Amino acid sequence: MVQLGTKRTALVLYCVLLVLPTVVLGALQWRQLRLDHDSDIASIPRDAQDAVRRLSDAYKKNLTSLLESEGGRPFFEYGQTYFPPGAIGADLVFVPSPLATDKPPMGILGWFQYRWHESPEATEILGGSGQQLESWPQARAELLNSVVLLRQMEDRESSPREYWQRLTQLTGRHGTWHEEGQEIPVVAVNLSEEKDVACLREALPALRDLESQIIQVKTTVFHVRFFLDVTGAPHAMATRMVAVGGHRELRNMPSCFQVVKGGDFLIQGFELDPLWLLDSLPNALALTALDPSQRLLEQNEAPPPGSHVENLDLLSEMGFEIPHREDADPYVKRIAIDQRSLDARLRSRELSFLSVAGMLVLSLGTGLVLLFRSVQRDLDSARRTENFVSAVTHELRTPLSAIKLYGEMLAEGWVSDDNKRMEYYRRILRESTRLETLVERVLHKGQLTRNELEPEPGDLVRAIEPLVPLLEVGEGPDPARDLTFELPTGLPLVMLHTECVRSIVTNLVENARKYAPVDLANPASEPIRVRVALFEREVRLEVLDRGPGIPLEERSRIFQAFYRIGNEQTRASKGTGLGLHLVALQAEAMGAKVEALEREGGGTLFRVTFELAEEPGP
Ligand code: ADP
Repeated sequence: MVQLGTKRTALVLYCVLLVLPTVVLGALQWRQLRLDHDSDIASIPRDAQDAVRRLSDAYKKNLTSLLESEGGRPFFEYGQTYFPPGAIGADLVFVPSPLATDKPPMGILGWFQYRWHESPEATEILGGSGQQLESWPQARAELLNSVVLLRQMEDRESSPREYWQRLTQLTGRHGTWHEEGQEIPVVAVNLSEEKDVACLREALPALRDLESQIIQVKTTVFHVRFFLDVTGAPHAMATRMVAVGGHRELRNMPSCFQVVKGGDFLIQGFELDPLWLLDSLPNALALTALDPSQRLLEQNEAPPPGSHVENLDLLSEMGFEIPHREDADPYVKRIAIDQRSLDARLRSRELSFLSVAGMLVLSLGTGLVLLFRSVQRDLDSARRTENFVSAVTHELRTPLSAIKLYGEMLAEGWVSDDNKRMEYYRRILRESTRLETLVERVLHKGQLTRNELEPEPGDLVRAIEPLVPLLEVGEGPDPARDLTFELPTGLPLVMLHTECVRSIVTNLVENARKYAPVDLANPASEPIRVRVALFEREVRLEVLDRGPGIPLEERSRIFQAFYRIGNEQTRASKGTGLGLHLVALQAEAMGAKVEALEREGGGTLFRVTFELAEEPGP
């Protein structure tokens, strides 16, 4: 009952203090993992919209800065050469335009300019440094073709003024137009239709006089139109309108200034590279704007299974004019958010959680086993002490009550027969000796535990010899026949303590008699043997019997204090569980080693191995 109660208390305490908090914390952590995953999944649409916004912002920033930097170009740069401001002198000087010589900015295929009423063939086409390439005639023809398509759309407009109005309405979002003052000579020379140099030279003196006169030049911001040609190829054309005010001074000038005398309208623009606009730019921006789990899909690519897809119409976002909405549909971008990476992250987190949990279970399990073992050890020790107390009490009571009984009978004079009286005196003496031995053992144990004995070199056989007659004493007058001694002489000295050696032999012989009694009625039965022998470099004292033997698992335990094999209630023999413990303590005090072994042919062999005190002789 005590055992069960103590074990239960230990288990309950262990569970309440260690297992329960661990389980609760583990469950909370597990739940948190799941909640985090659910909230990650729930935030996918929001993350996708964020990704769309980031990409669209980056795209707009890029294109707007291109349109703005192009918007800052003065109108007169749209020619192979131009007459720069402040350059009027003794002669007319033309400088090559950057639009005819420089490397075009990323995304621009080429520039163009035409007058409102001019035929398409008169369109000026500029390709920057590309003009020097062999492929230029082909590229020029394609650009001109795009301009023709653009002009076909514009031709429906009735007048340049209406077109101006339309453009400023369309670009209203970005700012409508700007105005700058240009010197008359700059405007006049750059707009002179045929660049009739002879005519211009002739007018040079008159132009110099007009140098300080200013003409207003109004320019709209760039507007982009997106459309497909008959082959289905996409085109994105940026255009602006330049309105040059007329000046009456020019009316009297030679014919080469006819065009500008009453003002003029120019359409200037450039074609955007569709591959850059629709593919390489968004892809390049996606690399920095999107998270690793988000990806811009190719035009016909199927989204990965289980992924969330968000659409991004970059062309509409930019405010491009798309006359046929369906033209832009194939170029709507799609961003896929891969949910599998979230699932994989959950799995890896679950795995690390489970491995930590596994380790915890292992350590808690080990702790539980160790706790049970330690509780079991303490309970065993308590049980042994309990057994000892009850055994000692019993051992004390039996001789005491016998002494008391015989003493009373003798004192009351109830025993008249002299022989009987002598017998009672002997019994009183024997019981007192038993009592004395018991008390001595208990005292001796204390002494041994406190390490109060010092071994000395001595002859083992000589220490045992005086014991022989005492142990051989039988119940009757004859010596007991159940015991034989083999005590050879001339053995080397060993480290011993005489009293301890005698106590060991007495104990072992008494045990053998108690647990392996010799059947004296059977002449074939073997007596108990006490043997001393030299074995290599050690001297062994052995006590051998033919009893039931000691089970293997009990052989080391029997040397523990108060340990007795079996159950106190069912055990037939009396004892304290102290005998072999004393033997072990005494052996240890002499530096000797004691062990219980199985005897060949049945029975037990107790062996005490002594260390030699000196080197054996040659
Ligand atoms: P006690 O004899 O007082 O019970 P011991 O310490 O002398 O205590 O012995 C411990 C246990 O070892 C005994 O209870 C007994 O079961 C067992 N034992 C000792 N000697 C022998 C033996 N010769 N044969 C079988 N069992 C033995």
